[in-house]
Amino acid sequence: MPEQTFGRSSGFATRAVRAGQEPCTSTGATIAPIYQTATFTLEAPGVTKGYDYSRSGNPTRTALEKQLASLESAEYATAFASGMAAVNGIAAILSSGDRIVATRDIYGGTHRLFSVVLPRYGIETSFVDLDDEAALRAALTPDVKLLWLETPSNPLLTITDVRKVVAIAKSVLPNVIVAADNTFASPYFQRPLELGCDVVMHSTTKYLTGHSDVIGGVSITNDKPLADRIAYHQNAVGAVPGPWDAYLTSRGVKTLALRMEAHARNAQAVAEFLATRDDVADVYYPGLASHPGHEIARAQMHGFGGVVSLRPRGGKERAHSFAKGSRVFGLATSLGGVESLLCLPAIMTHASLTPQERTDLGVTDDLVRLSVGIEDTVDIIADLREALDASAAAALVAL
Ligand code: PLP
Repeated sequence: MPEQTFGRSSGFATRAVRAGQEPCTSTGATIAPIYQTATFTLEAPGVTKGYDYSRSGNPTRTALEKQLASLESAEYATAFASGMAAVNGIAAILSSGDRIVATRDIYGGTHRLFSVVLPRYGIETSFVDLDDEAALRAALTPDVKLLWLETPSNPLLTITDVRKVVAIAKSVLPNVIVAADNTFASPYFQRPLELGCDVVMHSTTKYLTGHSDVIGGVSITNDKPLADRIAYHQNAVGAVPGPWDAYLTSRGVKTLALRMEAHARNAQAVAEFLATRDDVADVYYPGLASHPGHEIARAQMHGFGGVVSLRPRGGKERAHSFAKGSRVFGLATSLGGVESLLCLPAIMTHASLTPQERTDLGVTDDLVRLSVGIEDTVDIIADLREALDASAAAALVAL
């Protein structure tokens, strides 16, 4: 069947299963083979069948790129070896003397790249609270070439009003490129290109692969010259995923719609449960009506995702004892897999920030981030109740 049958007119789940996933043309294999090859034999000098060397392109990667582009309603995707390689691949469109404006609430690895690595190449970053319109306008100086959003943010689930920020940025700097890290929402719940962004980035390690067994990333855009610049850099530096990883990600993507519904259902139940507990000081989940970004999230997302953060009362000791006490939530960095995971951002995902930077961001030692999996809701809630009760008793926190 021609591929365009599964283009933009098809529903999301149809595209997730079918886009780019044509049967093998030579054998009819329904699942196209994994092209586990470094190189391709030419028919004659200069004559290829579209591929010559797997750093520059590989059919398994192409299939994944078509599939991922279609999910963000886009034409062009470039699959990378990791989420950070994708962030770097987008940032590599900049030159020495250019500046990035980035949201303050940002994944620790992106913060490290922007604040430690890129300055060595003459690219500086201004971190801004994007809710503060005056601060955003002041930061949009003529040297700013890239605006970096992350919404919902890691780990505090801050919501940025994407349409509003894009409108402000483009009114001040018409040529600024607006990029969004869409890892937390996945394209099932949010499509930043439809909200006005120029390029969207994912750590495909998370929801897109969905099974915690691959490190990968992707940049996606409708802007051909931009896509070409990103792909050129990717080939030049070699930040490519192998065919096996590309295949595993494609396989995971096929169930994205089903998984995201289950993640969000469980996360909503977890957030509502945590909100009833007196021994939990704060709960962060955009699906709670009390979340400051709830209305904006409702307007720009189709669901609220699977990550919930909390601050149990009792400080760092209580948070650590709670983290150790859970049986359902594995204590591990990462998120977005089918299994529930728990992370202590201050010593895990955001350990590369200075203590002062973490304090300024609210990434305190007592903060706990839950990646709520797709296990049975009742098991998840029972486990959290037990772990909270046990850690409260140990820390002598009044229930
Ligand atoms: N962006 C966000 C929001 C993340 O959570 C992560 C990883 O946790 C990354 C980017 C980096 O992705 P990777 O670990 O695949 O390099």
